[in-house]
Amino acid sequence: MAEPLRIDVFTLFPGLIEGYVSESILGRAHRLGLLDVRAHDIRDQATDRHRTVDDTPFGGGAGMVMMAPPVFAAVAEVRPPRPLLLLSPGGRPFDQAMAAELAATGGFSLLCGRYEGVDQRIVDDLVDGEVSIGDYVLAGGELGALVIIEATARLRPGVLGNEESPRDESFTEGLLEYPHYTRPAEFGGRGVPGILRSGDHGRVARWRRAMALHRTIALRPDLIEARGGLDDADRALLEEFPADTES
Ligand code: SAM
Repeated sequence: MAEPLRIDVFTLFPGLIEGYVSESILGRAHRLGLLDVRAHDIRDQATDRHRTVDDTPFGGGAGMVMMAPPVFAAVAEVRPPRPLLLLSPGGRPFDQAMAAELAATGGFSLLCGRYEGVDQRIVDDLVDGEVSIGDYVLAGGELGALVIIEATARLRPGVLGNEESPRDESFTEGLLEYPHYTRPAEFGGRGVPGILRSGDHGRVARWRRAMALHRTIALRPDLIEARGGLDDADRALLEEFPADTES
């Protein structure tokens, strides 16, 4: 069997990580030996009796800064898989492509900041890169770490029960996903597009691709632009199946 994807997380709140990854698909992936998330408490490396891990910023100003020594010590003790990525609002924006890159590795590690962030020497001399989960500021890196862990782990073979799922999903081919329907066939006065009940798998596949294109054009035109616009096949599909195709 393939080695599990190992992800080491350095944090002041290991319980936040351990609780989330023990449930649902991530918990199942652990039990199946597909995933190995290890949360390390940076505070264990503090050397004073108050277990101090933060201090006031040189130069003054609000808030506290995570100190370099306990973070360096935690990483030295574990020698975790690289790359070691710092969660940071200024980092590389995390996206599906990065999730796929990380899923193709044997493992990687995440460092969660708190307070005003970490001492710059951690950025300069310890981590391999910085990653952001969006243009907003959270209180700590743990939610970001969990976002990255989940988005990455679910791309590993066997983690999702259904191997088909990640292939057609939003962003995989630079498009949003097509709409889904399930029973009942009539609900709230609305039916289900007739094509989906036609049994014609080729037509269903073409309809789904056309709907993915329509949704992406309407909701995320930037994604269409990023893939170089529409090609002839896309245009033909959009013509064959207008946005409101019902049958
Ligand atoms: N002072 C920092 C700034 O202005 O950029 C914000 C620090 S934030 C309160 C504390 C920690 O939360 C950060 O060190 C980082 O680890 C994490 N964090 C906050 N927002 C994040 C985001 N959008 N993406 C990734 N990590 C984030």
